Amino acid sequence: MRLAPCQPRKPYKTKRARPSTVPSRTGNDLLGSSQILGQLSALDKGGYVRSHRNNGKAYPTGLHAAVASLLDSLGLKYEVDSPLSQGSKLKAEFLVAGRTAIFIGRRLTKGERRAARSSGIRCVLVGMSAARSDSWDAGLRVTALSKGEGGDDSLKEGRLQTIFLDDPSFNFDYAHILPKTEKCSVMHGHTSSALVEIAGSPVEGMVVDFNDAKPIIREAISNLDHKLFIRKKYVVGETKTHIDLKFETVHGEFALHVPKETTVLLEGEATVENLAKELLDRITPKMPGNVEAVGVYVYEGMNKGTHLLARLHTKEAEKGRKR
Ligand SMILES: [Zn+2]
Repeated sequence: MRLAPCQPRKPYKTKRARPSTVPSRTGNDLLGSSQILGQLSALDKGGYVRSHRNNGKAYPTGLHAAVASLLDSLGLKYEVDSPLSQGSKLKAEFLVAGRTAIFIGRRLTKGERRAARSSGIRCVLVGMSAARSDSWDAGLRVTALSKGEGGDDSLKEGRLQTIFLDDPSFNFDYAHILPKTEKCSVMHGHTSSALVEIAGSPVEGMVVDFNDAKPIIREAISNLDHKLFIRKKYVVGETKTHIDLKFETVHGEFALHVPKETTVLLEGEATVENLAKELLDRITPKMPGNVEAVGVYVYEGMNKGTHLLARLHTKEAEKGRKR
């Protein structure tokens, strides 16, 4: 079959005249405005100018405008782009009441730090992290210039990076019972494996030494290997060595007398999700201080599983450690 030849395209017609990005020549006043000229020169380069405003004043970045807004709301008097003292070459983005200099989004050179210290003015650096901008950490950094000679502006920081460990020694078998489900309310088992990721700022080039992390994970997993997982609330009695479990299922009542040593009691049902939490709780307290989060991927059998990521050093996590 022959295809019909392409029809020549009709010239594109618009009903309305296209808006011009350039103001009319009669608008001399408009062109006289430095802001419009700035916008036009940026358009010339294929970009655009963002303007950040606070109280009718324009600032180069949103951070400048936010700091101005904060100072305004506190009723503080300040000067913008002001030298730290008369004749000083070092200018601060904000000089508050002649006593506090605020530098925005920049690091001070050695010479500038020296000048800042000798001025006797308190210096605060406000900037955004180059390494962080995520749901856990928006990246805003506020720091005071250290007093000691040689001190840095503290805005530099390590990148956030993760390592992951996947090892045959992280394979484990477990039995569990989910009384509320039809199929899994009968005790059965799975052969599983775990993959662990550890996130933090590298120290000496390492988030954690693989050789340090591996035994911690291996120990946590070996303590869960070949155990029965069951929800704590099904315990109806215990002896020194055993616990008694009783629960209703669609198949009728189950009553079990099981050794404590081979049983792991969980707060929730013995799902793979809660099992991953149990594993994380056993790994996170042993991580060094630079580690910010630990994640585990736990398989339930093959091809399915769960991923759980826990943030460390939060108030809640610290509370959990003390318990
Ligand atoms: Zn199962």
